[in-house]
Amino acid sequence: MNNTKIPMVEIFETVEGEGTRAGFPTVFVRLFGCNLRCSWCDTKYSYPPEEAESVMTIDEIVEQVRTYRSTHVCLTGGEPLLYGEKSAALIEALLDIERLTDLHIETNGAIDLTMFMDRIHSPKVRYIMDYKLPDSGESDAMIVSNFAKLRKQDELKFVIGSDRDFEEAVRILEEYPTEALPMFSPVWETMPPAKLVQRMLDHGLSHVKLNMQLHKIIWDPAMRGV
Ligand code: SF4
Repeated sequence: MNNTKIPMVEIFETVEGEGTRAGFPTVFVRLFGCNLRCSWCDTKYSYPPEEAESVMTIDEIVEQVRTYRSTHVCLTGGEPLLYGEKSAALIEALLDIERLTDLHIETNGAIDLTMFMDRIHSPKVRYIMDYKLPDSGESDAMIVSNFAKLRKQDELKFVIGSDRDFEEAVRILEEYPTEALPMFSPVWETMPPAKLVQRMLDHGLSHVKLNMQLHKIIWDPAMRGV
């Protein structure tokens, strides 16, 4: 029994929209609360002044995830690691679901991963860590010591809104070595994907993967729960 309570936004099943597992049916577990306020955030409903949709116990969250069939689970937010020990306990409880083959955790780069890496050793767990570039307004909050902790199965995502962001992402990758797969995502409104691709080719970034958000192609970009 785990009656630890966590503020929640939603749990739903759809296809993963980005990263190396894009296109796989996935259960999304979205926690409420975030320690950042990125300028281009598309989930502003996941932190104050909005309110949590509900408060669920870890057992209730796991029970609901069990009702779906996808073997991939995405823990997201807001910032899903905001609750420290409670977030770690939720990850451990989700790993008890027998059918689960992949649990990826979307974290915002402003949470120290040390405790989670030390405590959770399942090869099913993968961190998808954002590095917030200058256009986000949150680059000062980035914990660069996380770079050396990320492993081969992890992903390092840069959301790129301008040439300034692009240059900074290239610089950061040179300065802080990591085993994680670097991915560049365009902010559609200000960095057309074709322009980002050209920049990547011009810089010879053959170790970087272009990351497009499938759900923006499939559904209305503003639609929730898809
Ligand atoms: S970290 Fe994510 S959820 Fe938090 S403000 Fe930035 S984009 Fe939004």
